[in-house]
Amino acid sequence: MLLQLYQAGEPVLRKTAKKVTKVALNQAHTQQTIELMIDTLRDHPGVGLAAPQVGENLQIIIIEDKKAYHKKLPAMLLKEQGRKPVPLQVLVNPILKVTKSDTKQYFEGCLSINGYRAVVPRAFEVEVRALDRTGQPVAFTASGWHARILQHEIDHLTGILYTDRMQVRSFMTEAIFNKKWSKAASAMIKKLDHTA
Ligand code: ZN
Repeated sequence: MLLQLYQAGEPVLRKTAKKVTKVALNQAHTQQTIELMIDTLRDHPGVGLAAPQVGENLQIIIIEDKKAYHKKLPAMLLKEQGRKPVPLQVLVNPILKVTKSDTKQYFEGCLSINGYRAVVPRAFEVEVRALDRTGQPVAFTASGWHARILQHEIDHLTGILYTDRMQVRSFMTEAIFNKKWSKAASAMIKKLDHTA
C-alpha cells in the first residue's frame, strides 16, 4: 500500500512535528507507517521523505539515495555535488547541526511540491543525532548530497519547505528543469542569478 503524499497548502506541512517516544516508536502503527513511507518513497521514486508529508505529525524521516538514481547524471556533476549512494536510513527525532558553514547551491525538488524545482543553498556538511527505528541512538557526519537531503527532510519537521529557502528567481516547472537544467553544474546555476 502506498501513502498519499500531502501537497503544499496542507496545514500538516507547516506544523512542528511531535517527538516520538520510545513506546510510540515500538507500536505497530508507527512501525507500519515507517514501512509504508519506505514503499511510498521507492515507488515515486525519491531520495527522502518526512512523516508530515504523509499526514503524520511525527519526527520521522527516511532517506535512501540508490546508485540507480545517479545513472542519468554526469559523473562530474555527481562529484561536484558530493553525491554518493546512501543506504536506507530511518531517523527518529533527528537533531541537525551544521558543521561547515560554506554553502552550495543546486536544484532540488520535493514530493510535496510536485512538479517544480528550484535552486536552494544548503550547508555542505552536517552532523545528525537521532534514534534509529528500533530506538537506538545514532550519530554521524554527512556531506554533499546526503547533507542536503538531511537538511531538506529535517526542515519538514519544523514546517519549513524548500520554497522558504530557495533562490526565488530559479523556481521552475519540472518539465523545464528536465529539459534544460537537470545537468546544471554550479557555474551554470550562478548565471541563473543574473538572468533578467
Ligand atoms: Zn520535501
